[in-house]
Amino acid sequence: MLTPGEVKLTDGRSVEFANLDIAATAPCLRVVADAVADLLPFYGSVHRGAGALSERCTREYEQARETVADVLGHGPGDTVIFTRNTTDAFNLLARAVPAGTTVVTFDTEHHANLLPWRNPVRLEAPRSPAAAVEILRAALRGLEGNVLVSVTAASNVTGEVWPIERLAAVAHEFGARIAVDAAQLAPHAPKRLAGLGADYIAFSGHKLYAPFGAGVLAGRADWLDAAEPYLAGGGASAHVADDGTTRWATGPARHEAGTPNLLGAVALATALRALHDRDLATAEQALLQRLRAGLAALPHVTELRLFPADAERVGIVSFTVAGRDPGEVAVTLGRDHGIGVRTGLFCAHPLTRRLLNDDKSDKSGQAVPDLSSGQAIRASFGIGTTAEHIDRLLAALQ
Ligand code: PLP
Repeated sequence: MLTPGEVKLTDGRSVEFANLDIAATAPCLRVVADAVADLLPFYGSVHRGAGALSERCTREYEQARETVADVLGHGPGDTVIFTRNTTDAFNLLARAVPAGTTVVTFDTEHHANLLPWRNPVRLEAPRSPAAAVEILRAALRGLEGNVLVSVTAASNVTGEVWPIERLAAVAHEFGARIAVDAAQLAPHAPKRLAGLGADYIAFSGHKLYAPFGAGVLAGRADWLDAAEPYLAGGGASAHVADDGTTRWATGPARHEAGTPNLLGAVALATALRALHDRDLATAEQALLQRLRAGLAALPHVTELRLFPADAERVGIVSFTVAGRDPGEVAVTLGRDHGIGVRTGLFCAHPLTRRLLNDDKSDKSGQAVPDLSSGQAIRASFGIGTTAEHIDRLLAALQ
């Protein structure tokens, strides 16, 4: 793991930076940095040249695609498209769904999976994983024609894990397809991705401990091969006639016009493979328990959650501090304690607002002055996070 080392505090001390904002962008794994550095001397055009550099770069790019397909357990009829990030992946998919497709999503989604869809059916926020399954089942009962359910696997606000396997089973029972926003599940539980039952999966390299602006949209090729190219240009065009008519490529090239992001794809695939081969859950769940138990013991701190407290989660916890402005808390954590967190509504405005409205009192039940500016504080962690980071946050909040 590449780390920023120490930061100076307002009192003159230096401490190791505690990066508790990993859900936004994760630091780079050493193995990823090495893979990128190894390739740099051979950097050349992808799919566009005949020399040794181009051959190697084309091979590495396609190998990255194969690695992703392998981790996702792809079979024939599936494809992997490299995008810029998860947002880009959902915008691509939104343009590729056949005309007349009904898209069904929950109003708890990250904006990346809330805003690209035209007139989606937005389902009410479920208060438990089981309720999510029942709400979806009821919604699908009345729908005909092509239906695409699109749902997040792990919330970037609460860390709560959604019952994707069960949602996929319900979707398939009704002949619908399901797209999964795995931006937050992929970095924490990459082994689960292959078994989700998803027809489409989207995630981002920069949340997966790989930098460089690459993401993935992976899944069933038929709609994608039939859709208008996401970007028009070189690489996506198989033949352009003198009269201007264009025959478009099929396969991933159809949606990857322009020179592809080789280093991004290699970094993403290297990270995905490295994470896939590690036990991530044991250490993370221990830290999660430590943080949540510590927060629960602080009378002025309230954790935000949609599901019951014992629902499965990844290492993301959002909370409010009664009577304190979240921005001020975050600045104090940064300057006085060397801790990086995030504040705001986390690009999931309807969900976070709903959860903030749930939280109107401290744990004694007393109403507290609302200084939250309608925002929350989020601590998120993963590889590289230590118990000391968690304890430092708890001590600072105390
Ligand atoms: N979905 C979820 C659950 C996220 O947490 C994020 C980013 O925070 C996104 C989608 C969008 O990811 P990106 O900004 O990489 O497109």
